[in-house]
Amino acid sequence: MAKNYRVTLIEGDGIGPEICAEMKKVVAATGIKIQFDEAFAGQKGIEKCNDTLPDKTLALIKKNRVAIKGPLTTPIAKGFGSINVLLRKKLELYANVRPVKSFPHVSPYPNVDIIIMRENTEDLYSGIEHEIAPGVVESIKVITRVASTRIAKYAFEYAKRNRRKIVTAIHKANIMKLSDGLFLACAQQVAKSYPGIEYKEMIVDNACMQLVTKPSQFDVLLLENLYGDIVSDLCAGLVGGLGLVPGGNIGKKFAVFESVHGSAPDIAGKGIANPIAMILTLGMLLEYLNESEAAQAVRQAVVNVLKAQKIKTPDLGGKNSCGEMGDALAAEVKKLIK
Ligand code: ATP
Repeated sequence: MAKNYRVTLIEGDGIGPEICAEMKKVVAATGIKIQFDEAFAGQKGIEKCNDTLPDKTLALIKKNRVAIKGPLTTPIAKGFGSINVLLRKKLELYANVRPVKSFPHVSPYPNVDIIIMRENTEDLYSGIEHEIAPGVVESIKVITRVASTRIAKYAFEYAKRNRRKIVTAIHKANIMKLSDGLFLACAQQVAKSYPGIEYKEMIVDNACMQLVTKPSQFDVLLLENLYGDIVSDLCAGLVGGLGLVPGGNIGKKFAVFESVHGSAPDIAGKGIANPIAMILTLGMLLEYLNESEAAQAVRQAVVNVLKAQKIKTPDLGGKNSCGEMGDALAAEVKKLIK
């Protein structure tokens, strides 16, 4: 008998509601029964509960264990920390997984197939900043053995499960000898337990150059939090932009799926956002729920629609709306599932 899933949904701010509406069309097309329990955070959290991350929202994610969310806007005013960072810390979502793969016709680089494994809980995102004297400030980069080992293990386990061949740790240990040095030492230690997977290291500036000149050499990238953030957007550019890259934040108990892009306030409400990243993010969620056939169909539907070159949102050089792209993908998924 088909399973009924309950998943917490945070539509988010900016283009969030538009792309979530398209994501729901694709869920319906897969035939998988998912009941979405809606929760609020970000700007909507403030409007509804006077809190960017209300306790009710956290409780609902913990209850269902799995959530999918659109982008959240962190108010620029002083006193508001990043909600995304807070959510990842509160739920111990230590692994940020972002598959970046080339698509037909829209990707400037044809042979990219990279999994970004970004540590999600520490580094310069520790939020520890202070002024030590007028005109002199410090932001603290925190790297621990526990968190570095945990993300390295996750990366190697992922590589083993998905038949990936190389894990490359990205670092700047020549300058940050202690912090990045510890991150590397943990990765080296973990790598010893996986003799079937090649382990490499690359300095972050060289890695950025190599990613732009020869991205096909990379397989799984293992990165600290800040390098992971920057390299994720770089890699999104290799395959056609932020509208195409999904993501998942995974912990021991909970998982929250969200695409790489932000709330894109410049195009919000215009109906022109690209829903593909959000729909591929749904694909990752389906994989997490072990609904592999549906997950595969979602990914294949994106490939087929882009190959046909009939429907393209403006970020991909076309004129179609977010809704038209969602409709096309839902129709394709339906065809593939039957
Ligand atoms: P954040 O700091 O939250 O990551 P940001 O301001 O760095 O946000 P985005 O909100 O992701 O970045 O937007 C960067 C650019 O990419 C904007 O011009 C935006 O319109 C575009 N963009 C982002 N997501 C999409 C999408 N799904 N479809 C089309 N364009 C997008």
